[in-house]
Amino acid sequence: MIMMLIGIIILIFIVYLIYSGSPREYRHSIGNKDAKCYSCGHGIQEDFIYCPQCSIPLKEKCKGCGKYINTDWRSCPYCNDQRLG
Ligand SMILES: [Zn+2]
Ligand SMILES: [Zn+2]
Repeated sequence: MIMMLIGIIILIFIVYLIYSGSPREYRHSIGNKDAKCYSCGHGIQEDFIYCPQCSIPLKEKCKGCGKYINTDWRSCPYCNDQRLG
């Protein structure tokens, strides 16, 4: 009876070790809001205008209002300037 109890405790201990000791590494990322350069994949911050790695423009000046907006946006969110052309 006691042997069985000890066996169960050891089993629980092993399971605990497996689940607590293994993968935690995905939490190790640098912790900015996973913004990446669309060209080279280098981590960037939201307010970067050029990529510090490949110096590609990440934002450009809106022709309508002069604010910096993402190059892949189709219209300016500030003044609704259409950028398709
Ligand atoms: Zn880049
Ligand atoms: Zn604008």
